[in-house]
Amino acid sequence: MSKIILKGDICYLESPTKFTKIKSGFLAINNGKIEGVYIEYDSSFNDYKLIDYSNKLIVPGLIDTHIHAPQNPFRGISMDDELIDWLNKNAFCEEQKYTEEDYYKKAYDIFVEELKKSATTRASIFATIHKDATIYLMQQLEKSGLVTFVGKVNMDRNSPDLLTETTENSIFDTAFIVEDTKNLVNTKPILTPRFTPSCTKELMHGLESLQVRYNLPVQSHLSENLEEIELVKSLHPEADFYAKTYDIYGLFGKSNQNLPVKTMMAHCVWSCEKEQDLMAKNGVFVAHSPLSNLNLSSGIAPIRTYLEKGIKVTLATDVAGGHTKSMFSVIVSAIQMSKMYWRLVDNTKKPLTFPEAYYMATAVAGEFFQDFSLVGKFEKGYDADILVLDDSVLPTTLDLDIDKRLERFAYLNGDIRQGGIYAKFVKGVKLF
Ligand SMILES: [Zn+2]
Repeated sequence: MSKIILKGDICYLESPTKFTKIKSGFLAINNGKIEGVYIEYDSSFNDYKLIDYSNKLIVPGLIDTHIHAPQNPFRGISMDDELIDWLNKNAFCEEQKYTEEDYYKKAYDIFVEELKKSATTRASIFATIHKDATIYLMQQLEKSGLVTFVGKVNMDRNSPDLLTETTENSIFDTAFIVEDTKNLVNTKPILTPRFTPSCTKELMHGLESLQVRYNLPVQSHLSENLEEIELVKSLHPEADFYAKTYDIYGLFGKSNQNLPVKTMMAHCVWSCEKEQDLMAKNGVFVAHSPLSNLNLSSGIAPIRTYLEKGIKVTLATDVAGGHTKSMFSVIVSAIQMSKMYWRLVDNTKKPLTFPEAYYMATAVAGEFFQDFSLVGKFEKGYDADILVLDDSVLPTTLDLDIDKRLERFAYLNGDIRQGGIYAKFVKGVKLF
């Protein structure tokens, strides 16, 4: 049983409104779990190993709830199209390469190494349709110490030949991966129908059976782009709105047996009122990806409305629609996008604050990972997912309070070589 105690400038959230700050405080970790946060050291910590991070920030780790691992190689290029053209020209071309062992090993090794060094402690990841490449990715992630959901993508229509599976193979390979990776502790499978346009009704039925059999969580895309929504309407005139095409198969927060199904839907930029109400009713999580929505000209998601309705909004990079793996940059852009929504769309929907955005990326996203254990807060019994940040690399003449230092670190993150993460712990284990 390992007992460690970190000393430093601790900053965390008990609610979305305000940071709790302790200058030169102590964060005790017992066997991978948070024991407590303390203002002073006392003799009861004598059997803990002290790690001194004086003058550095100690904050909860960030959770990226939507990222495409195979799109990592082409981050930051080819951003001149909207979603459907961008998928055809870029994403699908790249993802076809993941049948080649040499290629996928090289690409996924780079991805995992970069994710390990980033501010992300947990992530929900899309792979490709390929079984072997997906299993390799899961094995490498397990070695990294990060906690992740990884989905083999399902596609059996409206896709390039090399990315079109037969319905049977798509189901069989998904089940194979679930069985084959049962021994992994920190890496779990998640059902990943790419999005409605690429999945037949038969495939969705098959995925529903797997969900019921293995009690798997689900991730997909929803109402990202107007052309995409029109496409879904033409494919499914019977569906009242887009989310219905997942919901009728028990893949939208609730099974057809009325059991909860952990569901993460990326984007939800253009969700109609009925769709929003169903998300709230079924406890569906939104993976808000502001940088991707900017890059692909998708639109501005009405995040304040979602929060008012009690929808669980989390934050995501959506690499490679999003160009960076930095969740600090995503937090900042979520705030900036909400300001544009308030200014240009609806001036009754006030912009997000920094604590609100940080709370989404930690406590709210943490709820999606509760199948592993509690995470996302500095509370007793929660997993010790922690970032130690050295903001002395950003010198200033100002004497700033701890929460202002964290805010400044988030905004200036791009100015720091390799993101400025000084140390990182996941489940109490120091990754670096
Ligand atoms: Zn995506």
